[in-house]
Formats: sequence, C-alpha cells, structure tokens
Amino acid sequence: MKKCAYCGTQLESLTKEHIIPFGLLEMYPDQDVTFNSTSLKNRIYKDNQGHSIKDVCANCNNNLLGKLDTYGVDLIREYFSTKYTEDSSIRINYDYHLLQRWLLKIIYNSIRSSELESNWFNDQLQYITHDIQENLPPVSIFGGIHVDMTAFGEDKALLLSPLSSYQPLYIYHSPAILINGVLFTRKRKISIDRDKMKFHRADQVVTIRFGSAMFLVILWKKSILSYKIEQFNTEFETLYPYTLFRPNQINVVLRRVTDSISCLQPGVIQSKKAMIEADEHIRMILGGRSVSETQEEWNKNWSKEDQKRGRILIDNLWFPDNKSVQRKFEEYFSKNK
Ligand SMILES: [Zn+2]
Repeated sequence: MKKCAYCGTQLESLTKEHIIPFGLLEMYPDQDVTFNSTSLKNRIYKDNQGHSIKDVCANCNNNLLGKLDTYGVDLIREYFSTKYTEDSSIRINYDYHLLQRWLLKIIYNSIRSSELESNWFNDQLQYITHDIQENLPPVSIFGGIHVDMTAFGEDKALLLSPLSSYQPLYIYHSPAILINGVLFTRKRKISIDRDKMKFHRADQVVTIRFGSAMFLVILWKKSILSYKIEQFNTEFETLYPYTLFRPNQINVVLRRVTDSISCLQPGVIQSKKAMIEADEHIRMILGGRSVSETQEEWNKNWSKEDQKRGRILIDNLWFPDNKSVQRKFEEYFSKNK
C-alpha cells in the first residue's frame, strides 16, 4: 500500500503528478530537456513529459491540485507568455491564496522529487488542498519579469552554451542572491560565495521561472516573528528589482528582474545595483546598441531552418543513447544532404 503525499490515504496505486504543471509544458514544447538543479541530484535528460512524481492519489491530483494548476496556468498564459523588453512594466491581477497555494504545491512536489528534507509542509497540506486558513504559513512571494537580455536572443544562443542556455521553465532551489553582483566580484576577485545573501530564518528559498514570470518564494521557519519578515520584505524591495505580492491586495506592478548576466543563469539573482552594472556592460560590448536591436538583426540572419538544424546537431551530441533523438538526426540529414 502507498500513502498519498497530500491526504495520507492508503491506496494500491497512486497517480502521476507533474512537477512543472503539464499545461505549461504544453505551452513550451521546445523545452523537452529536463534539468534537475538540486544539489543532491544533478542530471539532465530528454523527454517530452517533464519531471513527475507518483505519490498523489487521484482525488487530490485531479480535483484539488488540478484547480490550482488551472489558476496558475491561466495566470501565466494571460500575462507571461509573451516576451517583454528592457523597460517593460506590467500590472497583473491576482488572487493571493490561489497563487500562494499553487506555488507551495509546486515547491512541495519539487522537494519530494529531489529528495530534499523538509518538514515545513506537514502542517500546510490542508491549506494547499482545501484552503483552510487557520494556520497560514510564513511566506514571502516576490515577482518580476524575465526579460531576455542576451545579444542574440536566448532561444538562439545555442552556440554559446548548448541546451542549458534556453530554459523557459525551471524551479531552482537555494539560488545565489547576490549583493554586489557577478561583475563586481569578478573585477575585484572576490569569491562569489562571499557575496551571497545568507538566510538564517528560512526553511526554503526557491526561484521559479515560468515563461516571462519570475517568482522568488521564501518559506520562513515557523518560529519567525512576523515583524522580522516585514523588515526583510521592505529591505529586499529596496535593494532588489522584485516586488512583493501582498496578501491583502489584488494587483501588483512587476518590472524586469533579469540582466545580461542573470538571464541565462537560473539561480543567480542580482541586486538593482548589480543590474545597472550589467546593463552598462552589455551596452558597451554591443557598441552602444540595445539588445533588442542586436536580437532583431540576429533573427534576420539566422533562419528557423538554421535553428532547427543546430538543435538537431546538439541533441545528437548530448543524447547519444536516446533513440528518438538519433532517429530525428538520421531523418533530417538523409533528407537534407
Ligand atoms: Zn490524496
């Protein structure tokens, strides 16, 4: 007998629950490579199904968690399925508890699938599945817009770092939240570890990217005093480009939270100060042009067909044991000799 991770019911067999909601995987069919970013496991494999876990009963999965996915996937489709530019800002409407429960469910699933240890969720399961708000958890949810700040366009930057450069969907545990930033530490030869913000009162810190949406979720230890959270939230909003989703509000204005350094590096979060330095750096490299200008130029020069061929070549090298990858490679190159 197996036990459902949400309601505890014992059953002969349990159903499969996706870590990244299936509705989102369908929106990004190009992302058919799964990365596991936790420290315990480090692997990469190609599939079309995405990462999943099989310890949820059919009732929890379809009736209770399914509702949260409907809410979350609609939110991403409505506001975050398009690309934004450097100076974009968007106002989005949200339902705080639906958003929070959806994100908590995703993080809880990710923790179990990565075999990370956490008791934090034990007394929050009724809140996630049934919206019982008697014992609301100490959480900070920050949001922002992921803007592609690469010179060529992130989906075309395959040549720079194959596959890993384009990841429109990811969940990253324990990101490096940098105070001075990558360029600052590099110039002064300071180790990046010394620049990381330390969290003594958090159980989990997680960054999530779904399309153009960036979330930074902090699950505070249950013993924390609420004024400490408020203090952190205020300070974080001052120093970082992220905006807090407030429980008592229904909309929020979000801005760009990525720069030319952080947009290709899941798990690196830069302060406002570090972003200014990165923005100046990329403008200098591009001889004063903006990334939207160089991306447009690159789009003209590198056709969809070129992109497709590049992807097939790279997949062939990365996944020599994957039969469908190999079949695609042979088909493509026998036709296009
Ligand atoms: Zn269940």
